[in-house]
Amino acid sequence: MDPALILGLLSMAVRSCASPVQNSPAVDGGQAGIKRQFAEQLLGLRDVTAMDKILETNSWRGGHARLPLREGDIAQLPGTGPRSAIACPGNSCLWPKAVDGFVYVPYRLSPEYVDMDRITIELGILDISSRTCVKFVPRTHEDDFLDIQPHSGCWSYLGRTGGAQTLSLQSPGCMWSGVVSHELMHALGFVHEQSRSDRNRYVTIKWENIVEGQEHNFKKYETNNLKTPYDYGSIMHYGRYAFSEDGDPTIVPKPDPRTPIGQRDGPSATDLHKINLLYNCGEQRLSSVSSFSGHSAQWSTIALDTQPLSTLIW
Ligand SMILES: [Zn+2]
Repeated sequence: MDPALILGLLSMAVRSCASPVQNSPAVDGGQAGIKRQFAEQLLGLRDVTAMDKILETNSWRGGHARLPLREGDIAQLPGTGPRSAIACPGNSCLWPKAVDGFVYVPYRLSPEYVDMDRITIELGILDISSRTCVKFVPRTHEDDFLDIQPHSGCWSYLGRTGGAQTLSLQSPGCMWSGVVSHELMHALGFVHEQSRSDRNRYVTIKWENIVEGQEHNFKKYETNNLKTPYDYGSIMHYGRYAFSEDGDPTIVPKPDPRTPIGQRDGPSATDLHKINLLYNCGEQRLSSVSSFSGHSAQWSTIALDTQPLSTLIW
């Protein structure tokens, strides 16, 4: 059988086997259980986004988790405040580009994962690697690498931190390829889409519908938006009911409130575009990426801004 067809069938199997989940605020389990009763009435499985799945899984980390998470799934280095990925000297928070123009991100996959987990994770990796200049490669000797582990919850640090950098993908709670690519994009340096500096032009945050004490998950940052349009369909976008108090929406698109937001399948075309822009993939490199070769000339003319990618603002 064609290997591509086998991979496709495995992908379908992974997605169809995923248990239905609903949006859940990242609060203690009891409160989350009550809140989910509202969300269950509002969301069908088809509408559950990668971020909904992440928040559902992470809601059960509760007080036992020692590592604080911001915005639901972004880990912070001990002793540091909220850290924005690219606000670092000389772009040291980015993964370095090799002399051949590709960006190789070494990773180690925990031996604790079963075969189906490994397939899911590798599908998430492939969704980025096959269409950008970023190539995730099994670690051999590199000092800096992603250490993918089935710890409690789905979470990642923002950008490259140096050394063995944990990226947690709990099994089975995080075993969607879209969740994998979401966390990988954090590790590449991307914040959530609705954290963008210009988000108020595209969505309304319904502060009154957010669980009390969870408002900090809707902070806005002074981001480098890479001259890309706001992307309602980004894999990095919260779902409509993220951190909802009573099942009412917390994020409403403008001007049409019915515009779908978030998804679960994998990086959008704009997500992939942004990865290529952030890592300054030139025309020559992109021309070898078949899915995007037709657009490479357009991208090569876009220069990266030099300001930090994200700085916290309210
Ligand atoms: Zn996230």
